[in-house]
Amino acid sequence: MDFQKILDEIQEDVQPYFGKGAVADYIPALARVSPDQFAMALRLADGTEYSVGSAETPFSIQSISKLFSLMLAMDIMGEDLWTRVGREPSGTAFNSLVQLEYENGIPRNPFINAGAIVVTDVIASHSANAPRRVADFVRQLSGNDQNRVDEEVALSEWEHGYRNAALANLLRSFNNITGDVDSVLDVYFRQCAITMNCLDLVRAVQPLVLGGHSPIANRQVLTQREAKRVNAIMLTCGLYDAVGNFAYSVGLPAKSGVGGGIVAVLPGQFSIAVWAPELDAAGNSLVGTRALELFTTKTGLSIF
Ligand code: GLN
Repeated sequence: MDFQKILDEIQEDVQPYFGKGAVADYIPALARVSPDQFAMALRLADGTEYSVGSAETPFSIQSISKLFSLMLAMDIMGEDLWTRVGREPSGTAFNSLVQLEYENGIPRNPFINAGAIVVTDVIASHSANAPRRVADFVRQLSGNDQNRVDEEVALSEWEHGYRNAALANLLRSFNNITGDVDSVLDVYFRQCAITMNCLDLVRAVQPLVLGGHSPIANRQVLTQREAKRVNAIMLTCGLYDAVGNFAYSVGLPAKSGVGGGIVAVLPGQFSIAVWAPELDAAGNSLVGTRALELFTTKTGLSIF
């Protein structure tokens, strides 16, 4: 299959969809991002890579960081993690508070903010230098030392993080956060503010393609079983309240972020990442979703 030709075609095909979404505007640093950017990268299981557009331009990974923190927390706590966070889609917005109250402080899944904050607490309570741990892990997986916390974004997340602070306090009131609320939020905001590009992302998620093995870090970062499970959670919970439509139209386990990035995998075959900053109403990249849909349609490659 001529993957380069397919990516080039997709870049052309998605042009009519620019201008139909809106960049995240809850913090100035994201509101300023130019909306017309586009990048896509593909990495096959044998290490061959293809890309189109600004695949080396770093962007704010935001909720894609929840994937890396989940991998770390699974490694730390194993199955016990699931006593503190569930594995069901939430059917609500990523930053919703209501469900957490009536489900007694157990977040539906690790990919909504409440669940990610619990996962962050697990990492924070098992790390000497928690704020660095997720970024260090990401750098190992991507092989790129430039994957750093954007301090301006991290600070803005703090300044505008009222909902996340509310979620963290509610979790603390149910004893589902053990550490100091502000310290946990600090780690959470910093992981959201990590920057990566599309090529970094397809390299960093290779453990989800290769049964837990990272060819970049040259080690097994998850067991094969854990990798399978992370993929299952991506499929059912990775796109917030749009996850059903995404499975329907794209058909790949994926994780998105409000920076406009989406990373997806076909276990055993490839990882693919796309970045286009304009979001749809659910907070997922509008052009990015369309591009991934075109990719699985044109290639006939999806988990279904
Ligand atoms: N930093 C954002 C938040 O916590 C991340 C949300 C997202 O990417 N969906 O609200």
